[in-house]
Amino acid sequence: MNDSGMNTTSAGPDRWPDYLSPRRLSRAVRVGPLQMGGGRRPLIQSMNNVDPHDWQANLKQIEALAQAGCDLTRITIPDQEAACCLQKLVPQSPLPIVADIHFDYRLAIAAVEAGAAKIRINPGNIGGLDRVRKVAQACKAHGVAIRVGVNSGSLSRSVLEKYGGVSVEALVSSALDTVAILEACDFHDLVISLKASDPALTIACYRELARRCDYPLHIGVTEAGTATSGILRSAAALGTLLAEGIGDTLRISLTADPIKEVEAAWDLLSALDIARNRPVLISCPTCGRTQVDLIHLAQQVEDRLKAVHKPLKIAVMGCIVNGPGEAREADLGIAGGRGEFLLFARGKIIGKVAEGQAVDRLFELIDNWSEPEPSPL
Ligand code: SF4
Repeated sequence: MNDSGMNTTSAGPDRWPDYLSPRRLSRAVRVGPLQMGGGRRPLIQSMNNVDPHDWQANLKQIEALAQAGCDLTRITIPDQEAACCLQKLVPQSPLPIVADIHFDYRLAIAAVEAGAAKIRINPGNIGGLDRVRKVAQACKAHGVAIRVGVNSGSLSRSVLEKYGGVSVEALVSSALDTVAILEACDFHDLVISLKASDPALTIACYRELARRCDYPLHIGVTEAGTATSGILRSAAALGTLLAEGIGDTLRISLTADPIKEVEAAWDLLSALDIARNRPVLISCPTCGRTQVDLIHLAQQVEDRLKAVHKPLKIAVMGCIVNGPGEAREADLGIAGGRGEFLLFARGKIIGKVAEGQAVDRLFELIDNWSEPEPSPL
């Protein structure tokens, strides 16, 4: 049991780096076996992109997402047939499933009955008071959470008219108006998202929302772009928010394989030292002192590190003069000389190896790394 009195897979509040702003205190909400908010490490989400009518294809994708470190995933439910597929999928899924609902509140109810752990509704298109109430009743009866998910591109006409277009107030009010309806139904297992495709607007919206409620926040930039630009745009917005202590779950939306979303989310949490599920690679930018093919070698090391699940810092440095010292905080590293590499551990030189064998030798050391691993973050 945690602080909120719920049975979850979380042992309680997770650590938060001291050098970030203190974490916003959000209430804890149960999503299947997980705790979202309440001090839990920000949960990583993605969204399936295979046919929602093909439960086996979805199961395969969810298994791959789970393998990559995803905590929960979302599936669109466009019709009753997809809700029936959800019924087959849920008992076999290794991850809790969020049902994404647009327009038809009856699909939300069908998804709840099919075993979804959370429902995402869009205030811009779910309909009026009565429909939201019916969804709340079904979720309450089944212990299912609701994400009120506002998107800048799908604000209702009335909201756009009232606020004169897309703005922080329009997005925040759209979410909080729906939240007020749900609260009036005595429903509080809520998560909120306010996604814009503009990172700066996204930051401003979440700051305002964080000030005005204590629900867990799902942070993300919508229509962020392809892998390179999308990761940068998402990192700009989500990195800023996380550094300010805002964000209980995140999705890095990319026009790419959903696995890349999960990898990018872990990389972001790792960059801020919030959580880590694989080694961090430190590599120097190269300069006139570099006498080895460091760019190629660092890429090789990065690719091979994807299969390593130890929370190590690994350094790949371009010269022996500055490399070991500059990467002193690394657990293990290599630094290039003329045709050879020095091997070092925590800044101390431990050996020498020919350039062609440097990567293999480094991975031998990684495989044999026996220091007790820090407790899971
Ligand atoms: S570690 Fe050496 S090669 Fe790399 S940037 Fe620094 S001085 Fe240059």
